[in-house]
Parts: sequence; structure tokens; C-alpha cells
Amino acid sequence: MDIRENFICSSCGRKKIEEVRVNVTFHQTITSIEDDGYVDYDEDDNGTSSKGQVDRYQCEECGHVLDGVESIEDLYKYLEEGKGENPDN
Ligand SMILES: [Zn+2]
Repeated sequence: MDIRENFICSSCGRKKIEEVRVNVTFHQTITSIEDDGYVDYDEDDNGTSSKGQVDRYQCEECGHVLDGVESIEDLYKYLEEGKGENPDN
């Protein structure tokens, strides 16, 4: 399912949904710490992160939260049922 074809934000009209996750843990190797607190990271280590949990889905532009959508399955159903379409159109 293409998000841009199935979602229009009812607040701002944009067609992008973002997934917001919480409790994400990020790991990266540090190589030095300066006197002023500046930290240098290992250039070869892009870092790894745990995926955490989905907190919400929202419009990428204005932050309008999709009510009742708590998982990717919910999001699919929401869009499939046409709830992502702007009722004003
Ligand atoms: Zn919006």
C-alpha cells in the first residue's frame, strides 16, 4: 500500500506519515573526550540501535496523531478503510 496514495492529513493536507518510537537505545564507540566536554566518536562505528516500541503514527508535517493506530497492522487497516483520506475532499 502506497502511503501517498492512501493518506491525506486532515489537519494540513500533507501525505506523509511518520512512525514515532520510544525507548530506543543507541550504541556507539567513543574514542576521546576533550577538556570542554566535546566527545569524539569512532568514525568506523555508525552506531547500532535497538528498535524500541512504537508510540504513535503521526503526520510528518504537523504532528497530527492518527487516533487508534498503535501498530503497523492498525495503520494498514486504517488506510484500507479509507480513514486516512481527508473528509473535506
Ligand atoms: Zn498534518
